Amino acid sequence: MKYQSTRGHEMPQSFSEILLGGLAPDGGLYLPAQYPQVTADELEAWRKLPYADLAYEILRKFCDDIPAEDLRALTRKTYTPEVYCNAREGDNTADITPLRTLGEEGGTKLQLLSLSNGPTLAFKDMAMQLLGNLFEYALARAGQELNILGATSGDTGSAAEYAMRGKRGIRVFMLSPHRKMSAFQTAQMFSLQDPNIFNIAIDGVFDDAQDIVKAVSNDHAFKARQKIGTVNSINWARVVAQVVYYFKGWLLATDGPGQKVSFCVPSGNFGNVCAGHIARMMGLPIDKLVVATNENDVLDEFFRTGAYRVRKSAETYHTSSPSMDISKASNFERFVFDLLGQDAGKLAALFRDVEEKGGFDLSGTPEFDRIRQFGFVSGRSTHQDRLATIRDLSSRYGITIDTHTADGIKVAREHLRAGVPMVVLETALPAKFADTIREALGHEPERPAKFEGIESLPQRFEVMPADAAQVKAYIARHTGL
Ligand SMILES: *Cc1c(COP(=O)(O)O)cnc(C)c1O
Repeated sequence: MKYQSTRGHEMPQSFSEILLGGLAPDGGLYLPAQYPQVTADELEAWRKLPYADLAYEILRKFCDDIPAEDLRALTRKTYTPEVYCNAREGDNTADITPLRTLGEEGGTKLQLLSLSNGPTLAFKDMAMQLLGNLFEYALARAGQELNILGATSGDTGSAAEYAMRGKRGIRVFMLSPHRKMSAFQTAQMFSLQDPNIFNIAIDGVFDDAQDIVKAVSNDHAFKARQKIGTVNSINWARVVAQVVYYFKGWLLATDGPGQKVSFCVPSGNFGNVCAGHIARMMGLPIDKLVVATNENDVLDEFFRTGAYRVRKSAETYHTSSPSMDISKASNFERFVFDLLGQDAGKLAALFRDVEEKGGFDLSGTPEFDRIRQFGFVSGRSTHQDRLATIRDLSSRYGITIDTHTADGIKVAREHLRAGVPMVVLETALPAKFADTIREALGHEPERPAKFEGIESLPQRFEVMPADAAQVKAYIARHTGL
């Protein structure tokens, strides 16, 4: 399996070569040269597999340069009921991503696929936990080490820390805005005592932390000497790990070959739903891929009108589904590449327009007409919609969902089709977003037992001014490089 860049860089790479990297040298994103295909017989044979072995079967089609036995050991170490133990009562923890039927609506089943039972209660654990094990494996094989530098306002940083804690050859330096995260999120990150995890609380806002990461990454000499890397959402291994749960969701929602299922995905950077697109390209019988956004509706606008219009920071709203507050969707380029028939020249021209003019417009073009052939439709929600949906699911089905998942349910209901199960991806548990749950329901969300009293655990972090030079000095001091 060889990988190509969406912008046409002529140097095919193997999975191991792109694993630790980010963008391709030409600024594009990596995709496999061809999507591996899955037959109906193969799918039926996978029904009886535990999640870890299903993950192995799918991943081996994408990373044939990792010996089969090693890959199988990695997926079995990653996808265990002990790691994904925070399932709701009544859900089957052994499924790793249990599927729950909420009820019959619009002549079909409305279902919830739980992706948030991992250590940080958000779907990012599904990919990040595998990434931690893959990184450790690849670094050991190459005799290298890696220092991950990132900025977080919540979900990504904690998922990365819980995936990398205690891993040999890896350190994590995670910047966050001092006193700006919720008490729960702060406690999740800062209570980690592992010596390879470094929490740096920056006196400033998230953008200040992000600017420091950019400044450090632009110092190429420092970056090379300190072996600095990232784990952002364009990482191919993260995308491919997410492909697995679309297969699992389909297998749990159907009982025979050829049946169609639709998926609705709360979206920000388009990483999650991009994995659904890839599953569909591999032959999984997906009817619709429903892209659900919040008030930051760059993607909804594109799928409705064909206009992709990147927002400025002043037009990017802080919403009650904060993990979807984005101004441009960093994985979107992967889908556009397929939409353009994998024409790298055309794609490079469009994304030059994104840099220079802030977007592009495909309305009235043959490409726009093809969007529906790829199964994509979309919708958006407002804060009031999410509150109403949280209340409705609580009273109708007796289940509390988080704000991101509420966005998914709201939009899914606009695209129900009789006889086609609609599977909404649950991207976080409500315990993470207690303020909005209190606003909607008037009481605290339930917390998985493991998280009782997490706020009173001892915390380990360093407060620093928003100054890249001091952060660099801190990193150098702790790596000894
Ligand atoms: C990251 C995140 C999203 C958005 O996922 P993308 O892959 O960026 O589209 C949605 N919900 C939650 C809870 C998240 O953490």
